[in-house]
Amino acid sequence: MKPGAIGNLVVATDLAEAVGLVEEGFLPLAGGTDLIPRCTLGLLDGVSLVHISGIPEIAMVACDGETLSLGSAVTLADLSVHPSVPAWLRAACLRVASAGIRTAATLGGNLLQAPRCRFLNRPFFWRSAHGACLRTGGAICRAGGDADECHASQRSLLAAVLLAADARLEFLTSRGPTTITLESLYPRDLAPADLQAPGLLSRVIIPNSGSKGGIRWEVLTRRTSIDYPEIALAVAEISPVSKHTPPARRIAVSAPLPWPRLLPPTISDSSGDFTDLEEALTTIFPSVQTGLYDPAYLRHAAAVLLQRAVRRS
Ligand SMILES: Cc1cc2nc3c(=O)[nH]c(=O)nc-3n(C[C@H](O)[C@H](O)[C@H](O)COP(=O)(O)OP(=O)(O)OC[C@H]3O[C@@H](n4cnc5c(N)ncnc54)[C@H](O)[C@@H]3O)c2cc1C
Repeated sequence: MKPGAIGNLVVATDLAEAVGLVEEGFLPLAGGTDLIPRCTLGLLDGVSLVHISGIPEIAMVACDGETLSLGSAVTLADLSVHPSVPAWLRAACLRVASAGIRTAATLGGNLLQAPRCRFLNRPFFWRSAHGACLRTGGAICRAGGDADECHASQRSLLAAVLLAADARLEFLTSRGPTTITLESLYPRDLAPADLQAPGLLSRVIIPNSGSKGGIRWEVLTRRTSIDYPEIALAVAEISPVSKHTPPARRIAVSAPLPWPRLLPPTISDSSGDFTDLEEALTTIFPSVQTGLYDPAYLRHAAAVLLQRAVRRS
């Protein structure tokens, strides 16, 4: 098969058709800003796609006072100006990519975008010259380090922000809706590969209670427009359940990890002391340079960004 060729492309006329096709193995195509480049780079040869952007049920924002429900197919441009969306999330949407990309890119696609690597997200001929890597049928990771470990990283800022917000995801299958935590979506111990979503993501649900003062987030990028984050992290202050329980923090990091995740509670205590953070990041950050900056710099920069986020009122 010619590199970059796709199989079927179906424009779903309604939600039930889209859910059925996803069950048959079609990949949902929303804004296409992640999926189409992967197809044209020859990373998904022969894949069949179902276009879901025109389905109204998954393109709505609803707020019932207790929870905020964001349709997976709402674009980041629309989210960034929606009056029901909290300011911290509107601002985070505006920090993603560029204005042009945000008019197509959707919330669901952002959370489900594939892990990236500077050796993987390259044209077929470029990759062929280097030889296949772990993700493309080869035996070693081209980024170096432990050769048999893939070092690609999922670089979603909104994943970090929504993990800190304790968001839930609703997936649809022909058996009905299933709701899971965003945290459980991302594999903790698996090497990066394309995520197997458990159905069609219909909406992202943000609980209104629990975090005081919204989510504070920080990113490190080379430029403020277009570039993917080298580090993306977010912090939520959790209200104490009673006056006897101490306040706590939820701290989430996406880039440069293989998958976004919450940091262990030991570094999310309320002491404001982050001396243990760089040490903790040593075990979870990549040991080889996978992006623009080397691992030691990234660990130090993450600790600085976290302090900055925590101290910002
Ligand atoms: C130049 C550039 C810069 C970028 N910079 C940033 C950045 O700074 N920060 C950041 O966070 N992101 C960044 N991104 C990533 C961007 O935000 C994502 O590409 C975008 O949000 C994906 O949304 P989409 O609608 O285009 O998804 P698509 O490309 O259509 O889909 C992406 C993936 O999600 C799956 N998917 C989509 N919708 C659903 C659904 N409803 N149910 C199940 N699966 C689904 C698709 O099958 C596919 O695997 C950048 C992208 C580009 C191209």
